[in-house]
Amino acid sequence: MEEAASAGARVSMGKGLLAAAFLLGVAGSAALAAPAAHKANASGGRLATRIVARSVSAPQVERLVWRGADVDGDGQADFANPTGHDTRKTDPYGCGEFGASRDGGARRHEGVDFMAEAEQPLVAPISGYVSKIGFAYPGDNVLKFVEITNPALRYTARVFYIDPQVELGQAVHVGQPIGVHHTLEQKYPGGMTDHVHLEIIDNRGARIDATRLITARHEPASEAAKG
Ligand SMILES: [Zn+2]
Repeated sequence: MEEAASAGARVSMGKGLLAAAFLLGVAGSAALAAPAAHKANASGGRLATRIVARSVSAPQVERLVWRGADVDGDGQADFANPTGHDTRKTDPYGCGEFGASRDGGARRHEGVDFMAEAEQPLVAPISGYVSKIGFAYPGDNVLKFVEITNPALRYTARVFYIDPQVELGQAVHVGQPIGVHHTLEQKYPGGMTDHVHLEIIDNRGARIDATRLITARHEPASEAAKG
């Protein structure tokens, strides 16, 4: 009985070392580290678990999780990131943050750009009703925007570069799909990061920085996957 137990322990240790060797091989790969962690934990190898814990805490397996502000205090987010992706950084055409310089400093960027993939679903940044569907640029009947107005919260949001799947007057809920992204590749072929331009307009009619209401924090990828 004693012998059987120690043989079992050896086998288990052997498995742990194998898992550890495998994990050391992929430790540099963020994409592989998290799924490998689950496998190693399931096999129960203690050595493997320790190594996994170290690789999971590495910065490259963290991801951005976006949260909308709860401005009416009902415990629910009142804002959502329309693409779910990070903000557009600097590219050959400029930067995506609110207030960034445009036209050589002649005007300022009145929205926030969130990176987007061609034809990805876009969600409503606020609840309300569709108060306008329009064209983003004069003389261009391809690139559109959807405007959503929320009279109770007294905010209006405009989502640009969307192929709408909603109609004028339709009620929408924050986070609900309202269309798909229309790529900017044809409009700006010189290397602009594809994105959705989001404008949030407050009760005074002023455009405000959407990242004051839609904020990101870093979470370990494994934690983010749970919730
Ligand atoms: Zn923009």
